[in-house]
Order: sequence, then structure tokens, then C-alpha cells
Amino acid sequence: MADTAYDVIIIGSGPGGYVTAIRSAQLGLKTAIVEREHLGGICLNWGCIPTKALLRSAEMMDHANHAKHYGLKLEGKMSADVKDVVARSRGVSARLNGGVGFLMKKNKIDVIWGEAKLTKPGEVVVGKSTKPAVEPQHPVPKGVKGEGTYTAKHIIVATGARPRALPGIEPDGKLIWTYFEAMKPDFMPKSLVVMGSGAIGIEFASFYRSMGVDVTVVEVMKNVMPVEDAEISGIARKALEKRGMKILTEAKVAKVEKGANSITAHVETKDGKVQTITADRLISAVGVVGNIENLGLEALGVKTDHGCVMIDGYGKTNVPGLYAIGDVAGPPMLAHKAEHEGVVCIEKIAGLPNVHPMDKGKIPGCTYCNPQVASVGLTEAAAKEAGRDIRVGRFSFGANGKAIALGEDNGLIKTIFDKKTGELLGAHMVGTEVTELIQGFVVAMNLETTEEDLMHTIFPHPTLSEMMKESVLDAYGRALNA
Ligand SMILES: Cc1cc2nc3c(=O)[nH]c(=O)nc-3n(C[C@H](O)[C@H](O)[C@H](O)COP(=O)(O)OP(=O)(O)OC[C@H]3O[C@@H](n4cnc5c(N)ncnc54)[C@H](O)[C@@H]3O)c2cc1C
Repeated sequence: MADTAYDVIIIGSGPGGYVTAIRSAQLGLKTAIVEREHLGGICLNWGCIPTKALLRSAEMMDHANHAKHYGLKLEGKMSADVKDVVARSRGVSARLNGGVGFLMKKNKIDVIWGEAKLTKPGEVVVGKSTKPAVEPQHPVPKGVKGEGTYTAKHIIVATGARPRALPGIEPDGKLIWTYFEAMKPDFMPKSLVVMGSGAIGIEFASFYRSMGVDVTVVEVMKNVMPVEDAEISGIARKALEKRGMKILTEAKVAKVEKGANSITAHVETKDGKVQTITADRLISAVGVVGNIENLGLEALGVKTDHGCVMIDGYGKTNVPGLYAIGDVAGPPMLAHKAEHEGVVCIEKIAGLPNVHPMDKGKIPGCTYCNPQVASVGLTEAAAKEAGRDIRVGRFSFGANGKAIALGEDNGLIKTIFDKKTGELLGAHMVGTEVTELIQGFVVAMNLETTEEDLMHTIFPHPTLSEMMKESVLDAYGRALNA
């Protein structure tokens, strides 16, 4: 096979792309990955990982501010050095970025540096990047291939997504930030308006609030984190408000006026009133859109919908030999969805038997604000809407020994079962560390366990996880500690 001919070329090295490349190489396929900006994509460089590093600093700050509660004395007030907080976050991201380079080398995957365009079926032309990385932390890795024409039997588009902009409120990098600017502020604003309360918006709102910033969240829907179960969202909202965050729901930023070093947001509430909020900066967190442009998709006749490539359960597009995975292939736009979608896609390409199509009903979602929120499956409202006869279990953090010992006794674990079959339809959580707990229920759902199996499972004591069992027991009127 010529040096430019591959079994598989993947465009984009985010979690979707690089994980797919590794699985592809494991399956014995000659594999290349094209990247124009940074190995690891948004997730490692500007998304999942650096936000968690920032939120860890926020968590340390929150703990320090409550030291007295634990019988500890801290002389003076804790303060943040924004430069060092950001430097730590960027360092964490750089380390993982380098890790992806190592994994590509280890798995003998060719990295081609530049911007990929599909010119005809089976052909990718790589040109100069229109978006080179601007950060010294993310250098072009050594030993990569460069611009040129490459061919492959299978091409997988994994180009990810970028921030959505609302007309008239377009981010300008100075007064109106996207997650890029919010991730590495060069000063700590005194006040912020966060437009949108999905996971990205609420995580930044939570981080900045912990840093002492006066934060107002504006959300157009009825609840914060609108995809979450309404009851869980309500508890999270109360806790965020208790931390001093202002939250306006059923409200929208209709207009933004820019000052020399501030913005004034005109916020319309559902009663038709308009209130103005002046703040140092506005973070626009109104979702993301797929990177489908300038890829040559139109010329090849690839079907798209709402800015995303249309695929089947195995990542196949309507064009033979062309696939799409991850954010560019539609919601939920989450790293673990991108990874799994990629693995399913490449295993199907390799002809493995019994490859299960992607099941979007069992993808967990986590938000790492304080308190954390995590969920999988149907919300109570969605289950009812689907006509399911349900049983609902609840267990509160206030009745769990470990939560009380941790000083983290605010939260809830909620489980939803089908009344007739005992099938676990959904699990929803708010409280400390729930992002680490949810996987227990994800495994349970994947194994199609019933309430019986869960009730016969022994959970260690004392742990937060005991609340998961108690929630299940509660659905059947058998909770032990409530
Ligand atoms: C602030 C923030 C926080 C987040 N937190 C979480 C979280 O906690 N958990 C979670 O699951 N998800 C989180 N996400 C979402 C997560 O980052 C994405 O779902 C994930 O990165 C999608 O992976 P992907 O491989 O599809 O695309 P991406 O990670 O976007 O990678 C796509 C890659 O393709 C490259 N590319 C694009 N076009 C071309 C081209 N023409 N040629 C060559 N290369 C190209 C890009 O440079 C990029 O590196 C977060 C996102 C943000 C913004």
C-alpha cells in the first residue's frame, strides 16, 4: 500500500477521532488521523478536562471557605491567583494533549497535520490549516505527515463542534466570551452574565461564583440544565442560589449593549418585562454547532440536518465509505458518546460480528457544578410522556452517614422503574460526587437489571453509593434509612 493510502482516515483527533484511530489500529487496519489544530480536540484542550481542572480549584476554594465547619482555622481569607489557576488548567490540558501524541505513536497511527477536505469518494486533500493552535502548550507534534493527497477505503469525519452564536450577541473575545475566553481569563471579572444554563454555562457559572464573582445566569427554558429531571434541576437551582448565584429562567437576553469595559444585557422575562443587567463580561453558552463546513460534504451529496451529519446507528452516512461520529454527528454532544460512537463505527467497518448499534437512551450526562448533577435514561416527565406506568424512588443525602460525615448532606438520588417489569428506566442525581456514582446505574441499565437484582446487590458502607440502593428500595416502599 502506498505511503499515502490507508484502510481508514479519520478527520479530527478529538476523543471521537483518536479513540477510533486506536481501535482501528488494534483491529489491524492501516490508519491515519488528520488534525489541524490540537491533538485531543475540544475535550482535552478546551472542554471536559481544562474545565474540570478549573472546577477543582473552585472546589478547593469552597472547602477552604468552609474550613470552620470542619473545626479548622484558616488565618485570613482564601484568594485566587487567576494566572496560576489558569496555568494549572492549561498544564493539565497540555499533559493530555501530549498523551494523545504518545498513543498515536504507540499504535502506529500516522498523524497528518493540516486541514482536511473530501475531494471525491475515498480521497482526502490536506491543506494548510486555517485554524492553527495559538497556544504554546499545544505544539505541532514531531514526526507528523503534512499537506498532500491521501486515500482510504473508509473515511470517518470526526470534526467536532464550535460555539453557537446568537445574532446580535456574537462573541467578540473581549466583552462577550465563549468557552475559549472563559477558560483562560487574564483577570477575574467582578461580575458576569452567563447566557444559557446547559452543562457548559452552569459549570462556568459555578466556577466563577466560587471565585467570588457576582454571577447572573439567564436561561430561556423553565429550568436550569433543562435536559435534566425537573426535580433534580430544582434542587440544584436552590443550592446554586444559596451560594449566591442569581438565576433567571423563562428569560432571554434580547440585546447586549457594549460599554468600554462592560456589557449591559437587556433581559426579557416571561411577563414581558425587560430588566437590564450590567456586568464586566457576558459568557455566551447557548450550545454548539457541528463543524460541517468546508469539508466538501455538499459536493459529495452528504445529508446533513440542523448543522450535523446524518448517520445510522453505526456512523454510516448516505455516501458509501463515508462515516461520521461525535459532535459533528449530532447530540448528545459529549465526549463519551463520541468515543463509543467511533468504536461502534470502526468495529462495524472491520466486520466484527455482533456489533451493537449506538443506543442513545443509555448515555449518561454529568455536570460538574457545585453541587454536581448526573443522570441516565428517562426523566420522570419523559417516562410519563412515553406512557410508562412508573414507580419512583428517592433518597436524600441528608439521611446518608457518609454524606453527613463529609459535610455534604444536600442532594437527592432518584430512580425510575417500570411498574410492570421492574426495568430501570432512569436515574437522576444531584449532590457531591454524583458524577462518579451514576456509572453504577449505567451498568445496571446496560445489563437490563431489574429492581430485584439491584436490591440483592451489596453496597459498601459507609459510602454515598448506598443511597443508590436506598433509592431503589424506596421505589418499592422498602427504604431502610429513611
Ligand atoms: C467547556 C466545555 C466543557 C465540556 N465538558 C464536557 C464534559 O465534562 N464531559 C463531556 O462528555 N463532554 C464535555 N464537553 C463536550 C466535549 O468536549 C465534546 O463532546 C467532545 O470534544 C466531542 O468530541 P469530538 O471528537 O466529536 O470532537 P472535538 O473534540 O471537537 O474534536 C474535533 C477535532 O477535529 C479537528 N478538525 C475539525 N475540522 C478539521 C479539518 N477540516 N481538518 C482537520 N482537523 C479538523 C479539530 O481541530 C478538533 O481537534 C465539553 C465541551 C466544552 C466546550
